[in-house]
Amino acid sequence: MSQSKTGGARRHVNVPVFIPHLGCPHTCVFCNQRTISGVGSFDPDSVRPIIDEALSTVDIGDDCEIAFFGGSFTGIDRGLMTELLDIAESYVSAGRVSRIRCSTRPDYIDDGVISTLQRYTIGTVELGIQSMSQTVLTASERGHTPDDTRRAVSMLKSAGIAVGGQMMIGLPRSTMRDERECAEFIADACSEARIYPTIVFEGTELCRMMRRGEYEPLTEADAVERTADALEILSCGGVRVLRVGLCDTENLHGSEYAAGPNHPAIGELASSRIFLKRIMSEFAAADGVRGAEADVYVPVGRISAAVGHRGVNKKAIMSEFSPARLRFIEDGTLSGYTVKLTVKG
Ligand code: SF4
Repeated sequence: MSQSKTGGARRHVNVPVFIPHLGCPHTCVFCNQRTISGVGSFDPDSVRPIIDEALSTVDIGDDCEIAFFGGSFTGIDRGLMTELLDIAESYVSAGRVSRIRCSTRPDYIDDGVISTLQRYTIGTVELGIQSMSQTVLTASERGHTPDDTRRAVSMLKSAGIAVGGQMMIGLPRSTMRDERECAEFIADACSEARIYPTIVFEGTELCRMMRRGEYEPLTEADAVERTADALEILSCGGVRVLRVGLCDTENLHGSEYAAGPNHPAIGELASSRIFLKRIMSEFAAADGVRGAEADVYVPVGRISAAVGHRGVNKKAIMSEFSPARLRFIEDGTLSGYTVKLTVKG
């Protein structure tokens, strides 16, 4: 169950229901889901207990949402999909959750899916966009095109359904520029996003490509740099970034992990990187910082990201600009990645 605060004291709580990848016909090179369980069926009767258990831990007044994750929800058997939506909707009718969300592929949105979704209280559909470059989508064997994504986004928005965009960093043949373009598309079209640096899992085609020398996984430093770039574009575009990187529970350190940037706090590292860039540019533009007392103002709750893991940003600033004193101070008037620098002689 994921929880976050929305503005005031009201918590937003996602009640995730993971739908296995029932007979997925696709062959995305990075995917380790198809090999995991060989699950051929899914028992809808298992859903109510999952939801009831999750809801038993929430507080009165929490803003709850049932989220069908883990598969291409709108690509599963239509009868099963409506059965699951009926179950979720009964919680909406009972006032126990506010709305429903699901994740799916862009090419699994069509008129039939839209009219089915419109019969329910669907708040958001998260699309596995991954990249807006045809070259990258082809090299990753995604099986859909950037136009499929544009069409899906426009259909969902016309139907009054909010769209979340999931994108990946470091897919085969992907460049920082491709990732920037994907982030710009999401910033323009979506209200939420998730960013996943590519991990190579054992048993995947990507792993075989890597071992044949056809794919080089991202180093952690590259992943942080490129993720920071996308994250900054999304945040500046007013997109709510729900997650950066896979969860530690997603076999990031287990036997299935083969290679790639698996730092469990890669999102925090990327945030720190954005702060470093912005603070450095404030220092570069300021006069007389050497030997002066410098105060860096950052949004509330962002000091540790601004200072960096083990003070890495602070050390970099001290070494580049040599202020006599460097303090980081929270400022309630700032938000996002905005920083302010004051220098006293
Ligand atoms: S990532 Fe690709 S291959 Fe894996 S389950 Fe999703 S659509 Fe299928």
